[in-house]
Amino acid sequence: MRHSAIILLAAGLALAVLVVFGDLAAVRAAAAFICIGAAALVPWRLHDVAASRDDVRAVNPVEAAAVAAVVAGMPDPAVLLDRAGRVLHLNAAAAQLAPALRKNELAQFALRSPEIITALREAIATSEIRRATYLDHVPVDRWMELTVTPVPVPTLFGGSDKCMLMTFHDQTPLRRVEEMRADFVANASHELRTPLAALSGFIDTLQGPAKDDVKARERFLGIMHNQAKRMARLIDDLLSLSRVELSAHVRPDTLVDLVPIIRQVADGLELLARERQVTIDIDLPDTPVWIAGDREELLRLFENLIENALKYGASGGKVVVSLSQALSGEGTPEVRVMVRDFGPGIAPEHLPRLTERFYRVDVGDSRAQGGTGLGLSLVKHILNRHRGRLLIESVPKQGATFTAAFPPAMPPVVA
Ligand code: ADP
Repeated sequence: MRHSAIILLAAGLALAVLVVFGDLAAVRAAAAFICIGAAALVPWRLHDVAASRDDVRAVNPVEAAAVAAVVAGMPDPAVLLDRAGRVLHLNAAAAQLAPALRKNELAQFALRSPEIITALREAIATSEIRRATYLDHVPVDRWMELTVTPVPVPTLFGGSDKCMLMTFHDQTPLRRVEEMRADFVANASHELRTPLAALSGFIDTLQGPAKDDVKARERFLGIMHNQAKRMARLIDDLLSLSRVELSAHVRPDTLVDLVPIIRQVADGLELLARERQVTIDIDLPDTPVWIAGDREELLRLFENLIENALKYGASGGKVVVSLSQALSGEGTPEVRVMVRDFGPGIAPEHLPRLTERFYRVDVGDSRAQGGTGLGLSLVKHILNRHRGRLLIESVPKQGATFTAAFPPAMPPVVA
């Protein structure tokens, strides 16, 4: 519009000079001025109309600001494009996802994934919603789901134009959960099938070749008994794990004293300790130590930690179980139960994965010890439910220390 005004001013001055010097009749000058005025104004109006297609702000400033605010406020990456694919608005999440995206530039140049280009092209051509899933490699591998939604936008003359709203959703956590679920089912069935295969193998042998061999029968029955126990333990662990997971969001609210619980577990494992020729040193305070906890789950937790120390750290000949009160890294008080062995320890690369279901450092060793690979996973889930944490420290050849840390509770009020 500013350009039109300048042209009109210049033309007006020129025509006035011609009229003053008598080179042009006033009527003709006026007609010429009107023509020039129309010529100067009309293209700019048309340009405004054309621009309204490219930029929603030209449609209605209030609506355009609202559109920008909506795009900016969307939690997932979102980009609003015109019908040609030029970026009108994009939010911070989209700028982070595709740093090459620029306002007023074609999105096709910034988003190179063929799935995105195809979905965008199809949505523009058909005016229908298009979805695509693609693997984004930068900065890390992520599965992204893209939705291109054509949205009508009102124009100046009461008509409507089309914009494309592109939204992206990170599907990686969902896919991971799905993969974990599939892995879990595969692992659990594999773990159950192994003892089952051994059992049916021995049954066949006992019915056939070893039918009348009393010595072999005794030996096979012993092995079958152990395999059956292993299956029962596995099912027990699986059930406990799913029970703890189901109640993970409900923090236990009964007050329990940890001292007798630890003592009960250690006493119960005395026989195993003797079998493995390991002594259990217990260092517990004389006064009660209270936490908000579930007694059965805590018994299970300490049983797993102490039993692991006896099984995998037996070569050290000693297991120390101690209870202390300390400050966490954030300075909050916590109750720590430490189970330390002096066995072969664990190589650092295994430490972060020990609490994964079915993860074992040595599968053969774990099976030989009657392990299920679920013990530490159960420990972690029980601790999570108690709002506690598990610390694992180990120096290979010097043993391992598993520490269960809990938030302390005030002693119960005696009426
Ligand atoms: P498992 O049923 O196999 O014992 P866990 O989840 O309790 O399963 O333990 C996972 C693995 O961690 C074990 O198989 C073992 O390899 C390793 N582990 C656990 N505790 C110890 C320990 N005190 N010393 C050495 N390795 C250990």
